[in-house]
This record gives sequence, structure tokens and C-alpha cells, in this order.
Amino acid sequence: MADFMSYIYLMWIGNEKVEEGVLQEVKDNVGGIFGVPARIKKVEERPSDAFDPTRGQYSSTKILRWVLRDVPKDAKRVMAITDCDLYIPVLTFVFGEAQLGGKGAIVSTARLRLDLNGFPCPSRLCRARLLKECVHELGHTFGLSHCPSFRCVMSRSNSVLDVDAKSGNLCRDCQSLLIELQKKE
Ligand SMILES: [Zn+2]
Ligand SMILES: [Zn+2]
Repeated sequence: MADFMSYIYLMWIGNEKVEEGVLQEVKDNVGGIFGVPARIKKVEERPSDAFDPTRGQYSSTKILRWVLRDVPKDAKRVMAITDCDLYIPVLTFVFGEAQLGGKGAIVSTARLRLDLNGFPCPSRLCRARLLKECVHELGHTFGLSHCPSFRCVMSRSNSVLDVDAKSGNLCRDCQSLLIELQKKE
């Protein structure tokens, strides 16, 4: 039985202020794709223990843990968005991290803002990338794994080129799988 009044919560936890309209755009997009209404939650606090001074980056796993410590009662999912550069120990960076079939996800704009040479990209391109990565990480929380179809938003992205190459949508297979997975929730 589907539970009514449950939401995907989006929260900005970056160091800088979020660019005007970005969260709204993410909210509309993920709401449509997952068929779950999204809400923007304002948070003033920031995770304090996630920064690794030797790497100059933030542990996505620690931030995720922080996000999950205080989840709204009517939250179906909670997704944090940050401008901090994220890492997990085995990789130089990650665009985001999610609990597979869990509640929480995080995405960073830090690498999505830059081209491969480290130069800033146009805002429209950055926003399109962010929409894709938010859908991707949320897709994991709904139980979707990486998809072999390179156009599918659930395909794995190692660089912004991969992100640019994929569409913002789920392929047909992932879409039907999502419906099955959502029925079981
Ligand atoms: Zn992934
Ligand atoms: Zn797919």
C-alpha cells in the first residue's frame, strides 16, 4: 500500500549559498521522475566532522551519516546537495553517494561545475548535470543499480564527459524495474 504524504526531502548543505532556483529545478525533476512529491528543507547546520584536511575534501560517507541522523517523519528519501568536493577512500572523488535501497543520498556540485581542465562550465550545463546526478543517486536509494545503457541516467559516470553523454532519464528497463521496486516498498 502506497503511503500518502511522504516526500523526497532536498536540502542544501553547501558552504556557499545555493544558486537561485536550483533546488526548485531539482525538486520538480525528481518529483516527476520518481512520482513522489519533493520538498525543500532548509537546514542551517552543517556536518562538522566530514572534512579531511590531508585530502582537502569531504567524506561523502560521513556526510550521509550526518544527513540520516535526523530524518523527517514523512520522508521517503532525504537527499543532500553540497558544493563540497566529496570522496570515498578508494576514489579520488565522487559526484555523490547513496544507500542502495536506503533512505539517504548526497550529490556534490563541486566537480559538476568544471570541465576536465578544471575550468568553470556554463551554469546551464552545470544545472543539467546536477539534475542527472540527483536522479542517479536517488535511483540507487530506490534500489536501482548501474545500468549498461550509456544513455540511461543510471549508467556509471567517471567524469563529467560521461555525465554529459547520458540523458537525464531512466531507460525503459530501469523504468519498469523502478515501478516493481516501488510496489514492494
Ligand atoms: Zn551510481
Ligand atoms: Zn537503465
